[in-house]
Amino acid sequence: MSNIQNYWDKVLEILKQDMNPVMYESYISPIIPVKYTDTHFVVKLKFEGDSLLNVIKSTLNKKYEPNINSAIEQVFGKPLQFIFEDDYIEPTQEIVEVKKTNLIQQENGLITNYLFSNYIVGTSNNMAFAASVAVAENPGEDDIYNPLFLYGGVGLGKTHLMHAIGNHVLAGNPNANVLYVSCEKFTTELIKAIKDRQTYEFKEKYRQVDLLLIDDIQFLKGKEAGQEEFFHTFNELFNANKQIVMTSDRKPSEIQTLTSRLQSRMSKGLIIDIQSPNFETRTAILEKKAEIKNEKISTDVLQYIASNITSNIREMEGVLNKIIVYARLTNKPIDLELAREVMQDIIKDTKSNITISYIQENVADFYKITVDELVSKRRTKPLTTYRHIAMYLCRKLLDNSLEEIGGKFGGRDHSTVMNGCDRVCKLLETDTDRAAEVKNIEKRIVGN
Ligand code: ADP
Ligand code: MG
Repeated sequence: MSNIQNYWDKVLEILKQDMNPVMYESYISPIIPVKYTDTHFVVKLKFEGDSLLNVIKSTLNKKYEPNINSAIEQVFGKPLQFIFEDDYIEPTQEIVEVKKTNLIQQENGLITNYLFSNYIVGTSNNMAFAASVAVAENPGEDDIYNPLFLYGGVGLGKTHLMHAIGNHVLAGNPNANVLYVSCEKFTTELIKAIKDRQTYEFKEKYRQVDLLLIDDIQFLKGKEAGQEEFFHTFNELFNANKQIVMTSDRKPSEIQTLTSRLQSRMSKGLIIDIQSPNFETRTAILEKKAEIKNEKISTDVLQYIASNITSNIREMEGVLNKIIVYARLTNKPIDLELAREVMQDIIKDTKSNITISYIQENVADFYKITVDELVSKRRTKPLTTYRHIAMYLCRKLLDNSLEEIGGKFGGRDHSTVMNGCDRVCKLLETDTDRAAEVKNIEKRIVGN
């Protein structure tokens, strides 16, 4: 069997766990892996010239791409963009240059580019960040933090933080024995050890580790015996004051494949969740990523990406990469127009019916004022706040430029709109009532 097929089989295993079997059969089974490069995982579909082909392809691109990319990343230990053969353009020399920031995984499993210094902290992740720093400063020294269990949705920065802990510990003490493993690798090794009657050697290997980082623990499943062994290995590490950090997409109590004994063992330390970042944090993350890639990209474009991709940072970063590569390929500057072009497929269809006027009507209606008042020159409170909320929603839900939005708000200029949006962003962070209100209005506008 070819190498790539082996990789793909592993990707399939991961995808199978989270998908409805019918969807899996319809959309994932027909995929044939073709090749992988430094940056891409190239595939094609089993059928050819079939009308079904386009349907499957577009559903895969629209709906399942993040899952597939995430599974590929878990298998390869670095992100590769899933792409169809027809859409794949062989990179020119220049593009290979852009990708030089690629993640390099060392023997200890650590990716050196994932650091605290390039992790953006916001309200969604400040607890996780603080705990990670505390652990990295004094690994294994405080039972309160051992194990540290970070959980949260896909692409929210769990793996990044975990590597940052490892890198920080090594920076302070180059002799520290740090080991990062995916849960999959850990269990495969364990199962093999049990089979070969080498659990002693297995435990010895892990016992020597000062800091053990186990990623995506939700994949820990299988036979009781395996978990039993896992449990003892863990206990030994704890007793020897070794620090353990784990991540998962959910809390230990919600990982159904875990025995309750293991669940409660994992819950003994500190359990912290990472939530989806808000608009400001997302923009700051994009700024950081652009800076790392040595790309100068205007705030306008970054905000456009941040307002359209709201839940998954990995996806957001993927789009940023796409925009950079596209600009290079077409020799165009990276501006709002280009960003729109690249992102047109990604942006939700629902948005097409929404206009600036529609948003203004909804906001006015919600606050029981008229649209004329909303766009008027009057600057009394709370009218200005309502106006800013309307601007913010326009920015979030539409592709229009700041100028276009300002124009429809009584001919205001782009900086007024930008300031208004910034204020709302800040307000939403501090004022939960207002945040709920704005969510409510947004729901009415988007219609769900
Ligand atoms: P998870 O493990 O939660 O699925 P990752 O840690 O793999 O997510 O993060 C996905 C991508 O998003 C990575 O490239 C990571 O660097 C980036 N990322 C996530 N959160 C942040 C953040 N707060 N600051 C900077 N980059 C982030
Ligand atoms: Mg991860």
